[in-house]
Amino acid sequence: MADYNEMWKELGMNLEEHDKLCEVLPQAFGDVFLTQENRPEAMDYYNFVIAEIHGVRPKELIEHKKNGGKVFGTFCIYVPDEIIFAADAIATGLCGGSQFWVPGGEKVLPVNTCPLIKASVGARLDKTCPFFRIADMYIGETTCDGKKKAWEILAEDVPFYVMDLPQMKRRKDVTAWKEEIEDLKKKVEEFTGNRITEESLKKAISLINEKRKALMRLYNCRKQKVLPISGRDALVIMQIAFYDDPERFTQMTNKLCDELEQRIEQGISVVKEGTKRILVTGTPLAVPNWKLHNIIETSGGVVVCEEMCTGTRYFEQLVDETKVTLDEQIEALANRYMQINCACFTPNEARIDDIIRLAKEYKADGIINLNLKFCNLYATETYKVERELRKEGIPVLSIETDYTDSDSEQLRTRIGAFIEMLGE
Ligand code: SF4
Ligand code: SF4
Repeated sequence: MADYNEMWKELGMNLEEHDKLCEVLPQAFGDVFLTQENRPEAMDYYNFVIAEIHGVRPKELIEHKKNGGKVFGTFCIYVPDEIIFAADAIATGLCGGSQFWVPGGEKVLPVNTCPLIKASVGARLDKTCPFFRIADMYIGETTCDGKKKAWEILAEDVPFYVMDLPQMKRRKDVTAWKEEIEDLKKKVEEFTGNRITEESLKKAISLINEKRKALMRLYNCRKQKVLPISGRDALVIMQIAFYDDPERFTQMTNKLCDELEQRIEQGISVVKEGTKRILVTGTPLAVPNWKLHNIIETSGGVVVCEEMCTGTRYFEQLVDETKVTLDEQIEALANRYMQINCACFTPNEARIDDIIRLAKEYKADGIINLNLKFCNLYATETYKVERELRKEGIPVLSIETDYTDSDSEQLRTRIGAFIEMLGE
């Protein structure tokens, strides 16, 4: 990585602590990704983005701020990026996926909080992530209880806006979400000093839809019998989608897909025939959480799909681009976002329908249902997920883990046995 010390210092970061993260990340990335054989050439771009994760993109965001622009940090895929980009601002994902940040979160949160929340709070309070320093305003949501209360703590340290997400999907809830998006629009306009117009929102809707379409194209390649890309590589691309410049990301991902489609035509697969195809479902895998995919793909399996927020939930539905007035456009946003199936909703049967549909589309041999430790919502939904999958005759293994490596060997044993069982 180039030398960004001056930039990090200006951001008020704790350089000594941050150095420790910079020391371990390249090694972890090398072990998980660069050891793979026959990777697509176009993965070079994503390798570069990760190698420079705390440098290149933060520098661009700082440049944007120097030119008078604002940066908003978000934590959940219900928050519509379109509104932010329509105000000439930039949205960036802030979910923490490393154990490195967890102890910082535990200083102020109960230990039995999910690692995603603890890491996100720790990254801010310990001043060890440039993205958390750069964002001028954070936008949270009322999804799970842990997040709601964590926002109150973060709000003491950084301007914070919370969207009130309904927890049911009746017509009146979609209307309520539309009103929340209208309020967000007002807030973003006030904070940036830029008015959101029909034209700017139309452009932003198209920008984000194009990103979704590129991801759909990538995932379509993973449905094929000839598998042109590993699950690890697809996951890191998905994680980068939350941070990267959307236009460049779309362009690079389409370029990768050209190569993947060519590989499919030529019969070039990254795995041996007969490798067991695994769909993973459950709680999100924020960067740099690569633990589960790495274990699966070094235990005789390959991940073909993620029914997760860092997966299909992020891109599966497009926003209707035919709407003309601001009111209609915002309604189209509300309709699209309320189709995401997160366990914070009740009922949430549509998620189970999605898992079954995706298992068929991606020709999965088995499903691994992941729960991040202390996520009560997804843990409770496990009962119904397992029951319905068994009814469909789809093998499922449920696991609960965190960001530490302490259970890696135990997980390897369980996942290895599950994959072996799929071959019987
Ligand atoms: S799991 Fe639910 S709360 Fe968490 S990012 Fe996804 S949609 Fe948001
Ligand atoms: S994984 Fe569960 S507990 Fe953690 S932030 Fe998401 S919904 Fe909340």
